[in-house]
Amino acid sequence: MNKLPNKFNTNAVRAGINMTEEGEHSEAMFLTSSFVFENAQQASDRFKNVEKGNVYSRFTNPTVRVFEERLASLEEAEQCVATSSGMSAILSLFMSLCQPGDHIVVSRSIFGTTVQLFNNILKRWGIDISYVDLKEDLEWKAAITNKTKFFFVETPSNPLTELCNIKDLASIAHEANIKLVVDNCFCTPALQKPLLHGADIIIHSATKYLDGQGRCLGGAVLGSKEDMTEVYGFLRTAGPTLSAFNAWVFTKSLETLNIRMQAHSSNAMLLATWLEKQKKVTKVYYPGLESHPQYSLANTQQSSPGGVLSFEVKGGMSEAWSLIDSTKLLSITANLGDVKTTITHPTSTTHSRLSDQERIEVGINDNLVRIAVGLEDIDDIIGDLNYLLK
Ligand SMILES: *Cc1c(COP(=O)(O)O)cnc(C)c1O
Repeated sequence: MNKLPNKFNTNAVRAGINMTEEGEHSEAMFLTSSFVFENAQQASDRFKNVEKGNVYSRFTNPTVRVFEERLASLEEAEQCVATSSGMSAILSLFMSLCQPGDHIVVSRSIFGTTVQLFNNILKRWGIDISYVDLKEDLEWKAAITNKTKFFFVETPSNPLTELCNIKDLASIAHEANIKLVVDNCFCTPALQKPLLHGADIIIHSATKYLDGQGRCLGGAVLGSKEDMTEVYGFLRTAGPTLSAFNAWVFTKSLETLNIRMQAHSSNAMLLATWLEKQKKVTKVYYPGLESHPQYSLANTQQSSPGGVLSFEVKGGMSEAWSLIDSTKLLSITANLGDVKTTITHPTSTTHSRLSDQERIEVGINDNLVRIAVGLEDIDDIIGDLNYLLK
């Protein structure tokens, strides 16, 4: 167990370490599917869980455990369960804690595949879903039924960087005996710790900023021991476990999480400020700008505004596409949370499954461009957007 004081940077580099007899300084990687026993008695005891210890990597793996303990210490959660992807984190959470007839209230502004998981999969198993505007407390309240078990939200939202007040939403949820789940993928614990604002459960796609360098897929669910015991039970039976190799990569990435997130934020702040001054840009969405309607909430809920921003280009979709096509350095890809800056057109990519009507409702216009600001020199990032100067 991690006995360190709760200091973010110290925990980020040291929590969860369990050095082997070899005395390795960097965390060891245990690429093994199963574990051997000293004798038949020990095998029996391990299977019966009379004796603690590893049996098979679908159940436990020492490398995965280091990542889980380290991330739990950063989120200040009782327990973390690592999963094979962000999507399997969300699936595992609801498969283990919901049953047919339950109802979940969900922010309309969430990751597209999460919407598909709710609509195409969970609904088929009898779980009812309602969608609301994440900023409107009254909508959350009005959506509650006597079957509502969870609220699910991402803050800031993608791509419009709208925030939800986690503390207020948690108290609305708790009054009705509902648990609040926050997908903390955009901020990571370096910028925002939802459990400290009253949320009950955190979801991560480790694929994004936790890895930070675009290498591996993974995810995590964090929360109370009681809830995580259920999630773990689902995982060891159903099997969407994190691979030891990916866990090792993420563990090493957590060591630089804080300095990376600060650097993403400061580059994004410089870019947002520059974009706001461009005549060809009609609107910039970034919680670090005073023009953002929730600027003061962002200042109290987050330690910095994060690496993702979006903006509207004067004109329509063809101008947005021309800007994207004019870039030479930025990567045209829908992924985010990478040291390399990425640029995408949400209407035709990440949010293309929404109908025109749904897109208009959430405010994603055809001239919107999203940038997940990386760690290149800011002058090079701005220089690559010189289409906006012409
Ligand atoms: C990418 C993403 C997910 C899904 O994660 P995967 O690792 O791709 O399965 C979930 N939520 C958010 C906010 C994401 O950006």
